[in-house]
This record gives sequence, structure tokens and C-alpha cells, in this order.
Amino acid sequence: KAMGANEIRRAFLKFFEEKDHYIQKSYPLVPLEDKSLLLINAGMAPLKPYFSGTKEPPKNRMATCQKCIRTDDIENVGRTARHATFFEMLGNFSFGDYFKKEAIEWSWEFVLEVLEMPRENVWASIYQEDDEAFDLWHDHIGLEKEKIVRLGKEDNFWEIGTGPCGPCSELYYDRGAAYGCEDPDCKPGCDCDRFVEFWNLVFTQFNKDEEGNYTKLPSPNIDTGMGLERVAAIMQDVNSIYEIDVAKRIYDRVIAMKNSPEKEEESTSIKVITDHVKAVTFMIGDGIVPSNEGRGYVLRRLLRRGARHGRMLGIRHSFLKDLMDTVVEIFGEDYPELKEKQDYIRKIITVEEEKFQETIGQGMEILDGYIETLEQKGEKVLSGADAFKLYDTYGFPLDLTLEILAEKNFTVDEEAFEAAMEKQRNLARSSRQKQGTEGWAEDPLKSVDPKLKTLFTGYTSFKETAKV
Ligand code: ATP
Ligand code: MG
Ligand code: MG
Ligand code: MG
Repeated sequence: KAMGANEIRRAFLKFFEEKDHYIQKSYPLVPLEDKSLLLINAGMAPLKPYFSGTKEPPKNRMATCQKCIRTDDIENVGRTARHATFFEMLGNFSFGDYFKKEAIEWSWEFVLEVLEMPRENVWASIYQEDDEAFDLWHDHIGLEKEKIVRLGKEDNFWEIGTGPCGPCSELYYDRGAAYGCEDPDCKPGCDCDRFVEFWNLVFTQFNKDEEGNYTKLPSPNIDTGMGLERVAAIMQDVNSIYEIDVAKRIYDRVIAMKNSPEKEEESTSIKVITDHVKAVTFMIGDGIVPSNEGRGYVLRRLLRRGARHGRMLGIRHSFLKDLMDTVVEIFGEDYPELKEKQDYIRKIITVEEEKFQETIGQGMEILDGYIETLEQKGEKVLSGADAFKLYDTYGFPLDLTLEILAEKNFTVDEEAFEAAMEKQRNLARSSRQKQGTEGWAEDPLKSVDPKLKTLFTGYTSFKETAKV
């Protein structure tokens, strides 16, 4: 059934509302209370206080469609058919209310009756020791045993350190041999694009203590996560999450901007831009501003990475700010904050992007020169000083330099780079420059109306080191 992404989102929330869930709109991408997390990366992340019992939920069953950012997946964008840095996660949650049986039952009902997926294409994975889940899938649901795959701890057991944890069960969709790999036994868990993991059901039933003992929780929880874009790609029968209805409009606009027909080797860059412009639009909409650390650095990196891929397509002017309008057009109805802050978002992207456009060409030339020199000398590591120059004078975030170098098997002396950074920080401190202008001769955001700039300091005043 060809359902649009917006339609799937609404159908999901309605389905669980009818199952008596409290529907909560997406929390911001910036964790409101959780200092351990840079950006919300799953539907359950903002609900942690309800799971741990430190806060009372509005109801003991909830459902959300949560905006997520996963920088861990940045290298996969455009390389696999199913990873983005920004995506929406649909989820239903039980805080000590219903458990495994209902979670499995309802996922099946939603998949077959609302999404109308052909039954024969749906598979499930379970944690290898979770016989209870096996029995539910097999005896209760009637799924054939060949289509219930037992996977190990890395894939199907959810835990972070100590505390609540438990086995998972994932739903997979078989897209057919055409999407597959060489392996005749290819099945869920394989890394190719044939079996798409689209829904993860986490059964939080244990508590893990310091000694590594697992004890049963008195009232177990349910936490599920379904990737909206992945479901849409399955439903719309398109190759990747970049070609679903909502993404395609951005994708096509990128092609229109580059003024020449799409070439095959350009597809990764187009996908990167399609993803990153969405990420930066939503991030700025949630109050993040570009900076050199923490989430502001993640934003800056995504924005400049997007600009670089634009350049690879031959786009030599600021274009992300215009693409942003398309993002707001598509998502503005379901995420009204984007419409409300559209002018502000445009302004932030514009200054950041225009400033980078001034130097990116020169920076690329210099980097190419460095690479040539390394090649001539038969060396593999760019000096920290050179990487720092690219950063300081041309606005190349270290990760961008690293990535461009990695494409040719070079790296950077990161320690020396960090030392150069530290030296500059100290200099800035001693000259009483409080504003974070590192990375630029002057802060590109200076031209933004200060009233706008300080609007969201509540979110951005945390000092954290970005690990991206
Ligand atoms: P994968 O193994 O494909 O990387 P995951 O196991 O890391 O996915 P989960 O942490 O289980 O993903 O997240 C729940 C769901 O969110 C996944 O089943 C998938 O549908 C979706 N999802 C996860 N990562 C991404 C991503 N980078 N882009 C789009 N959707 C994602
Ligand atoms: Mg993953
Ligand atoms: Mg997985
Ligand atoms: Mg998973």
C-alpha cells in the first residue's frame, strides 16, 4: 500500500491512541534534562525519567513520533539505503503496564492491518535465549519458525552499563533477492539491504547490577522504535529512504539546483545533502546554533559537510538556505515550530553558509596541495598545524578534513591539532575574547540580530565536548 510518510506517522499515532495510549508530540532534539546525551537519538531517550520511575508519566502507556539525530550513522548516509543522521522514530511505550504479549500482538496488527504489508514478507528476530518471545511469535501469532531468527547480544539485547535492560525483538521486511547479497542464506541480521530492520521492540525486564547479575524487574517496561522513513520506503517500494515522498522533493530540488541531469556517481552527495539539510533545519528549529563545541559543533559540521557535497555537485553558491524552505513546506504542518521559526532558521543557515562559501574553494585547493605534498613525500599523516590552518582560516571542521583525507587513505595528527586548538583557546581567553570565535577570524553569527541569537540560550548554554 503506497502510504505517504506523513500519513504513516498519523496512522501510527491514531492506532495507539485507540489502544489507550497518551499521544505526546515529539520532544525537542535537545535533551531537556539529560546531561549524558548530546542529542536525542531514540524515542525512548526523552522518556528515561518515566522508565526509571523518577517522574510520573501522564499515563502508563504513551506513543510518540520522535525527531532523532544519530551522528554515529553519518558515514552510512548515502552508502546504505536505510541510514540517515536525521530521522523520525515512531514508538509505543509501556511504563510497567502491558508487556511482551501486547507489544508483539499490536506490532503485528499494525503491520498487517494498517500498513497492510504482505504477510509473507515479514520476519522477526528475537534474542537467542528469549523463548518466551519465540513462543509468542510462533504459537500466538502463528509466524513460521523459519522466519523467527535468533540473534546474539550485540543485535538483540538492549543494555547500557548497569540498570534496566532486556532482550529485543525486531521486525524485518524482506525486500527480495534483488536487494540482496551473494549469500544464499541471507536473512535478518545480514548487513545488506534485502532484509530491512524497521521496528525494534525492547522488553525491559531485567535489572543489571554492578556484578553483572540480572534480576527480574517487578514491573517490566516496553520501549519500541520504528523508523518512519524505512517503513515509508517499504510501503512506497522505493530503493532507499532518500527516495520516499517527503525526501524525494528535497532530492529533486537538489538536482534542479545543480542545473544538469543527475549522474550516477553523484547520488551519494545528493543523499547527503537531502539528509543534512533536514537535520540542520530541525536542529536550528530546536534552538541549536552553530558553534565549535557540543551540539553546536554537530550542527556546524553537518552544515559545512552539506555545503561541501554541494560543491562536489558543482553548486557554487549558498543553496542550503533555499532547500530549507522545502523542508519547512514538507514538515511544517506536523512540526509547526519549523514554520514559526522559519525566518530565524533561514538567517542562521544563511550566515553560516555564506561565510563558509567564501573560503571553502580556497580551503579545498589548499587541502589538495597538502595531499599532493604528502603523496610526494610518501607520507600518510597531515600535520596538526596544517589541519589547524584549514580549521582556523578556512572553517574546515576537523571531522570534515579527516573525512576528505580518509577518502584518499590519509589521516591527521589529531593530537597536534588538539594542542593547536588549546593554544588558541588560551590566547583567546587571555585577550578576554569571551565569544566563541575560534575557527574563524570573526564569528559568522555576529551579523545575526542579537535578539534572535539569545532566544534559545537556555538550550545551548551547556558546555559539552562533542563526540561525533
Ligand atoms: P540498524 O541496525 O539498521 O543500524 P539500529 O538497530 O541501530 O538499526 P535501533 O536502535 O533499533 O536501530 O532503532 C529503532 C529503529 O529506528 C530501527 O529499527 C530503524 O527502523 C530506525 N533507525 C535506526 N537508525 C536509523 C537511521 N540512522 N536512519 C533511519 N532510521 C533509523
Ligand atoms: Mg544502527
Ligand atoms: Mg540493528
Ligand atoms: Mg535495532
